[in-house]
Amino acid sequence: MSRAHLSNIAKPVLLKGMSLEQLRTWCQEAGEPAYRGTQLFDWLYKRGATDPAIMANLPSGFRGWLAENTLLSAGSVVGKSASALEPTLKYLIHLEDGSLVETVSMLEAGRHTVCLSSQVGCNVGCTFCATASMGLVRNLHPGEIIDQLLLVQEDRGIPATNVVFMGMGEPLLNYASVIAAAEIMHHPRGLNIGAQRITISTVGIVPRIKQYTDEQQPYRLAISLNATDDQTRAEIMPLDRKWNLEKLLNAARNHARTSKRAITFEYVLLAGINDSIKDAGRLARLVSNIKCKINLIPYNEAGAIFRKPLQHVIEAFAAQLKEARIPVTIRWSNGVDIAAGCGQLAAPMNLQEDAQVSTDY
Ligand code: SAH
Ligand code: SF4
Repeated sequence: MSRAHLSNIAKPVLLKGMSLEQLRTWCQEAGEPAYRGTQLFDWLYKRGATDPAIMANLPSGFRGWLAENTLLSAGSVVGKSASALEPTLKYLIHLEDGSLVETVSMLEAGRHTVCLSSQVGCNVGCTFCATASMGLVRNLHPGEIIDQLLLVQEDRGIPATNVVFMGMGEPLLNYASVIAAAEIMHHPRGLNIGAQRITISTVGIVPRIKQYTDEQQPYRLAISLNATDDQTRAEIMPLDRKWNLEKLLNAARNHARTSKRAITFEYVLLAGINDSIKDAGRLARLVSNIKCKINLIPYNEAGAIFRKPLQHVIEAFAAQLKEARIPVTIRWSNGVDIAAGCGQLAAPMNLQEDAQVSTDY
């Protein structure tokens, strides 16, 4: 296929998000040798290039053609808020079609963790989560997922050490794009982030967890449990009616056994709903034969209905799990003053809706 043929494509081609193989094939179709694809892969991901002009090892004719016919970036930063409590930044990222997503960057204990969104909004409907109020606008493309990371790294001037898919959206409902993005982040020629430093958090899409296990995906898996009986869980997570605790825990157990890696169970603590000592005991029993750790997340403000439990209640819950010898950590969310904590992300549907954008940046 000639390059001229490719230029007939009306829309510029988005290069960001293409794998090494895809870029090599694409270069050949554009009339260039395959190794140009490898060079492009380096430029796009390792060096975060956003302009072909700087790609010094590519012929100038090809660079000019790339500038005319391709898009290197999928989004741009249009808003940034800084927490007064920790070195946490929340970014508002504008995508080509006008959609907006939020991405959070946290510096802690020598780590730079970036919390990525996988969808614009979410249609799973968990009642404690602000993202749910947006409904689902659309899935993100792999390039739009990677660009969140690259834009944050560029702005902060600090490479990410850890990535968590815990922003807006349900990653396993955008499975192919999330895995494609994780592969590029993990690739030694890409961002070279260790697989165990990439965590995918799911609400519990059982068939996709099975697929993830069967495919031997090397990334860390976190599962949002959030309740210890189906009645309570279904009230706060409607999805439990489809995939209940038994089905979910079976899939989790199978994943831990097959991968020989511990699962992280996330448990949002909601005062008076799932935070009793009885709940802690039940939780310990539910996970007793699964290699795991439990991450307790005290509820972050996201609407009027729920409350965060008192400190002593949170500590008693954790102590009960420790007594049962279950590894447990409490995740005190970062950036709650700028609504950057777990479950607080809900980007405006368009720029005009968010009066803060121009002043915050
Ligand atoms: N959709 C995925 C990942 C995004 S949510 C999932 O549900 O797992 C990331 C984590 O934030 C989940 O564990 C979720 O249960 C938790 N969360 C959602 N709303 C929250 C809130 N208001 N306070 C604390 N944690 C919350
Ligand atoms: Fe979606 Fe996760 Fe929020 Fe549930 S907690 S609505 S799955 S983003």
